[in-house]
Amino acid sequence: MDHPVARPPAFLCAECQVEPKCNHPNAKYCHGCRERLRRQPRSRVTPGQAAHLRPLLGTLPKRDIARRVGISLAALTRWLREEGLHSDSKPYDPALVAAVLRVYEHGGTPAVRQLFPGVRVRSIVERYKDFQPRQIRWTGPQTIEAARMAGLVTHTAQARYFGRPGAWEGSIKSLWIKRFQCPPRDVNGLGVSLAWWIATPGTPAVVVKHSTAPSAVAKVLWLDLVQHLRPDVPDWVRDAVQVLARFQTWLHGTDDPAAIRAMIQEREAQYGEYGRPGQQWRGTRRPARGHGAGAGESV
Ligand SMILES: [Zn+2]
Repeated sequence: MDHPVARPPAFLCAECQVEPKCNHPNAKYCHGCRERLRRQPRSRVTPGQAAHLRPLLGTLPKRDIARRVGISLAALTRWLREEGLHSDSKPYDPALVAAVLRVYEHGGTPAVRQLFPGVRVRSIVERYKDFQPRQIRWTGPQTIEAARMAGLVTHTAQARYFGRPGAWEGSIKSLWIKRFQCPPRDVNGLGVSLAWWIATPGTPAVVVKHSTAPSAVAKVLWLDLVQHLRPDVPDWVRDAVQVLARFQTWLHGTDDPAAIRAMIQEREAQYGEYGRPGQQWRGTRRPARGHGAGAGESV
């Protein structure tokens, strides 16, 4: 009986020639190359087509070049990337690009628009990217402080508290989307509408302002909730609240909910919209609205 011939042991990836290819009879590439080529396929532009392409670069829009040579726009884009080439039929004047980038570095988009009215700022800034970043990176202690204030202190007050250059309320939202990758609402407590079901009457709550909610909302800190759980709550609820209260103790470095309430009041009074009505802050965009944020109310 004939057996199929065993494959030679050194059966290498056709792309990198280093790694053994995937364990499948039809595989051509190693796992890494296969994933990479799936995202960035090769152009498959022939040498003859490449010879046609080179003199056309920079003279026509890329779509027209591709049409003239008879390849797809994607094939042209891939070939340019592989060859390390660029094709721009209507490039900006390099002096203009340099001037715009310097103005952007110091004044941002509004300053560029004022000085260069006809220029599309993002087209230059996002392509050439040759400027000092307008905002500084978050430090570790700042990130921890933001977690302590999560869902308790308004974004406006947080932004003023950190005082990072060029970073306002939106930077707090960005931090939660990009770094924490979760909403900040429930990090420090549970909304009263949910806490009401598992807490005894008289549980202390804090009244806080969310950027997305039209009015102030009441919230029970985990450290308060763990002290005021109804005796008949299921064990898994009790366990969950105890774990969250332990987390809050660790985060704030105290198991005293009064310290957290004092932190909220201090931050809102010193940096919030509501504590200092006459105070003018640079960069404030949102006018003060309706209810004030405070602490100490009861459910
Ligand atoms: Zn490979």
